[in-house]
Amino acid sequence: MHIKRNILLNPGPATTTDTVKLAQVVPDICPREKEFAGLMKGLRNDLLKLAHANPNEYTSVLFCGSGTINIDICLNSLLPEGKQILVVNNGAYSTRAVEVCDAYHLPHIDLKSSVFERPDLAKVEQTLKENPDIAIVYTTHHETGTGLLNPIREIGALAHKYGAIFVTDTTSSLGMIPVDVEKDNIDFCFASAQKGIMAMAGLSFVIGREQIIRASKNYPTRSYYCNLFLQYDYFEKTGEMHFTPPVQTIYATIQALKEFFEEGEDAKFARHHRVYEAIHEGIDKLGLKTVIDRNIESGLVVSVQYPDDPNWSFEKVHDYCYERGFTIYPGKISTSDTFRLCALGAIDEQDIKDFFVVFREALNKFEIKHK
Ligand SMILES: *Cc1c(COP(=O)(O)O)cnc(C)c1O
Repeated sequence: MHIKRNILLNPGPATTTDTVKLAQVVPDICPREKEFAGLMKGLRNDLLKLAHANPNEYTSVLFCGSGTINIDICLNSLLPEGKQILVVNNGAYSTRAVEVCDAYHLPHIDLKSSVFERPDLAKVEQTLKENPDIAIVYTTHHETGTGLLNPIREIGALAHKYGAIFVTDTTSSLGMIPVDVEKDNIDFCFASAQKGIMAMAGLSFVIGREQIIRASKNYPTRSYYCNLFLQYDYFEKTGEMHFTPPVQTIYATIQALKEFFEEGEDAKFARHHRVYEAIHEGIDKLGLKTVIDRNIESGLVVSVQYPDDPNWSFEKVHDYCYERGFTIYPGKISTSDTFRLCALGAIDEQDIKDFFVVFREALNKFEIKHK
């Protein structure tokens, strides 16, 4: 079977291998069969390895949904009565966490700062000092909207110093940048199958401290479907998801993890970095500008400023590239016009070189100024 290969430079879902795509084509199975529960058991263990989590202290809990379901679940499930959440917010994804707090009427502090810079740790500490009722410190590891990488280890250490737990959104970093829950002071992190591990959309997972999940049994239940303890408890008792799992996505994820361990964390990290370097090189050669200081970039997403030319049209350039198998993506910064080129997925340096040939053709065709 021939499957057309598209190069996705959007921030996930990512380009997948054919073996991952084809892993979804399996005989029909009822997910309540023991055979399927066995598959999920192995998958949950492998997900712990992804974050270097000790299985005696951490567990992974699977959910059917896109990555945002994890933000919802962790925030609404892990807050004890009478406590509040501190969101260290310097981007679109932490803003989403603030929206979740608003939706559930969870007491919270939105510690907002520039999307172009790392948060001021002294301010984080000051806020913790002044608000001893903060039970959860939350931030986004890699702000996918800009490409900025946050200092989670330092923020986690501050959370612990003031007796709070540390929850971090690693949706666009786990499986691409080495994350070690213990060293990075993470109590809970989460991601979904279509990003770092290069499988399909529909499966999300939370990795966190089992003891804290057990304690959360006594916290207010704020959602029926999106509750961490209820799903965890159901897995413990039956080995299954409470409700229908994304069956075919789970097969694809198991194959993707097999390929992850075959490639190896370091080699995969190095590959994403090659892709990232090739993106910067291509952008530099065209004389275009990026918006985030390279020292604080994740190495996975590059935000590029729109060329200063009235002929520029993101849509036209996008469509030209799309028709030739390359997908570029709009930016997510309200104060400047950007588009994004991302290093996720089963792609390598040569794909980026091929992309820039097409991108340059598009700039020429629409008479957009460039070097
Ligand atoms: C992709 C992403 C999510 C989840 O987005 P969905 O559209 O719900 O899959 C959450 N956080 C970050 C940082 C992301 O990059």
